Amino acid sequence: MPLVPMRILLDHAAENNYGVAALNVNNMEQIQAIMEAARETDSPVIIQASRGARQYTNDIFLRNLMFAAAELYPDIPVAMHLDHGNGPATCFSAMTNGFTSVMMDGSLSDDGKTPSTYEYNVKVTRAVVDVAHAVGITVEGEIGALGGIEDGHGAGLSEEEVKKHLTDPAQAEKFVKDTGVDALAVAIGTSHGAYKFAKKPTGSVLRMDVIIDIHKRLPNCHMVMHGSSSVPQELQDLINKYGGRMKPTFGVPVEEIQKGIKNGVRKINVDTDNRMAITAAIRKVFAETPEKFDPRDYLKPARDLMKQVCKDRMAAFGQAGNAGKIKLKTCRELIDFYKPAKK
Ligand SMILES: [Zn+2]
Repeated sequence: MPLVPMRILLDHAAENNYGVAALNVNNMEQIQAIMEAARETDSPVIIQASRGARQYTNDIFLRNLMFAAAELYPDIPVAMHLDHGNGPATCFSAMTNGFTSVMMDGSLSDDGKTPSTYEYNVKVTRAVVDVAHAVGITVEGEIGALGGIEDGHGAGLSEEEVKKHLTDPAQAEKFVKDTGVDALAVAIGTSHGAYKFAKKPTGSVLRMDVIIDIHKRLPNCHMVMHGSSSVPQELQDLINKYGGRMKPTFGVPVEEIQKGIKNGVRKINVDTDNRMAITAAIRKVFAETPEKFDPRDYLKPARDLMKQVCKDRMAAFGQAGNAGKIKLKTCRELIDFYKPAKK
């Protein structure tokens, strides 16, 4: 099956009230872990690469690994998404390299750090939507700004700044109309990376009420939760048991994500949890069998533990069991779908 536009996955998720994990990758083992999890749970999947991932892996390696995934798993619909494009040029280069979906993050200026103006955001996002929709590719925009920075993936805002840049629901409503985006990333107090919250988040720091308000205004808008790893205690413990030094931290509880899914969240970005699974498994092998030196001896358990985390999320978000139910369309077949909306 060819890679599919993300829009058809989000539409099916909305019609059937579930969410889809968007899982970041940098290499073959991560793609294999996700695809095996998808096959075992019959899940549609979104696989995404940040600018940092594209630099690390190289677009040609990435594209061909994704083509291999599509060929080897013909029953699993897979969308290939650019995470946090920092300008139209980044999005356009992704489109010419096999991506079927792009995020234009115009909430920040093109340095990927400084919060931008609303006018700038609309201008760059609209420019990407015009080109992407003409070729049937999906676009995610962002309004408000997220915190944390890792590997060219996301903003560099402090905790205080994050509070200042929560999404304003009225502005979100206007932004979707002004740009025509397929999906909207909202800032509700989450941040990228492992260190999101110092204690289990309450409603005053994790603002699910913002999602509920936007969903009332825009019932057909597909919302995206970024920075939504749960940073599970058991993975922190495993890493630290085998010589790691992760500081105590809390992520976004799965039950909060499920509340988001009930209120219009269709794409949930998860990266840190998978990174932790890989690191925990590798540390365990190194600690228990220091005589080993064949990379397969630690990459295989790493891949297996990441697969388990992916399966858990796929079940929790409700995407499990849906791969076979989606009516597939290619990007080319979506070109006509977008045409009337522009007139
Ligand atoms: Zn993000």
